[in-house]
Amino acid sequence: MPESPVDLRSDTVTRPTPAMRRAMAEAEVGDDVYGEDPTVRQLEAEVAAATAKAAALFVPSGTMGNQIAVLCHTERGDEMLLHEESHIYYYEAGAPAALAGVSARLLPGVRGRFGPEAVVAALRPANAHYPRPRLLCIENTHNRGGGSVWDPTAIAAVAAVGHGRGLAVHLDGARIWNASVALAVPVAQFCGPVDTVMCCLSKGLCAPVGSLLCGSVETIARARRYRKLLGGGMRQAGVLAAAGLVALRTMVDRLAEDHAHARFLAEGISSVRGFVVEPETVETNMVLLRTPSRPAAEVADALRALGVLCNATGPDTLRLVTHHDVSGADCERALPAFARVAAG
Ligand SMILES: *Cc1c(COP(=O)(O)O)cnc(C)c1O
Repeated sequence: MPESPVDLRSDTVTRPTPAMRRAMAEAEVGDDVYGEDPTVRQLEAEVAAATAKAAALFVPSGTMGNQIAVLCHTERGDEMLLHEESHIYYYEAGAPAALAGVSARLLPGVRGRFGPEAVVAALRPANAHYPRPRLLCIENTHNRGGGSVWDPTAIAAVAAVGHGRGLAVHLDGARIWNASVALAVPVAQFCGPVDTVMCCLSKGLCAPVGSLLCGSVETIARARRYRKLLGGGMRQAGVLAAAGLVALRTMVDRLAEDHAHARFLAEGISSVRGFVVEPETVETNMVLLRTPSRPAAEVADALRALGVLCNATGPDTLRLVTHHDVSGADCERALPAFARVAAG
């Protein structure tokens, strides 16, 4: 039988574990739009506690969680400040403009990070000509930054500047557990300086569906209304939340394995001609590879033919993502494919 491909496209491809499937089958449920699903309530309570926020809201996707945050913090015509390669700007179908009527002020910075000076430089004095800046977003870990980590001190520094100028601060923490494991710092420490945080259970934690938006009681009450407006009110969602609880309780610590596997791949590929990668820049479960002599899409096709799946994220950039469904043996099996592709 041919071996199955090594799928390094994303940690979203992870399938629910047997323990999750059992929990889903046995979940106690009710109508969550009436606030009557005990499993959803339990998940919301546990994630609110983990992020040290007063309340949390279960939403179908990270995109919906982020966009509800944008809606909660802004009015039409306002401006949001965020990194130029942010998921919210880059990968959410133009939703801030389409749904909230908000324009984006894009900040530069290496690997998705920026400092307080970038925020200060982007803020203009109040004037009838300018959109009102109302929201600052940061992303941790940073996806297009290659899984780079913002440490809590860096978050606090930019949040302080934002708050000082009257901006709300939202953290896109789709992979906040990866940041937490990488720095051995509890999730709550990253969330302390921000008003809202969105986190995903469906990435490295392997739940099939589900993200949470966390914040103050008042903000989450507004968020609940926006979730309904967007069509995200789910009924017996406890079936999904049950998998989320298993993810939260049992799948966090093992993310360290994914990080070690990413480092292993980067080190192995760093000696292959035709690929440029700096293993020391690998902070979590992603590896960015440059392919300076060939279009990345073509290289991805060649790798696919050899049983290694990955995504081109730019004209000469490939992204590898490690996760629960890629073992150490799979990573060893993937390395020769890079050498073969390089050899032509
Ligand atoms: C995956 C991701 C999201 C949300 O994605 P969904 O597919 O909508 O759940 C948000 N932000 C970042 C940084 C992500 O990587």
